[in-house]
Amino acid sequence: MKENNEELLKCSICGNRIEINVFGWKYGNNAEPVNSGRCCDYCNYMYVIPARLNLNK
Ligand SMILES: [Zn+2]
Repeated sequence: MKENNEELLKCSICGNRIEINVFGWKYGNNAEPVNSGRCCDYCNYMYVIPARLNLNK
């Protein structure tokens, strides 16, 4: 159904759609401190987690 595509969130970092993960969770990850939106798993590992580690230094 086309309508389902509109329910998927976009990653606020790379702009790709956030895919529903194996747990059925479709809201991705919190993108802070990179920005205040949501992000996909890829950006979470590539940008958000490193940014959080840097904050703790
Ligand atoms: Zn992304």
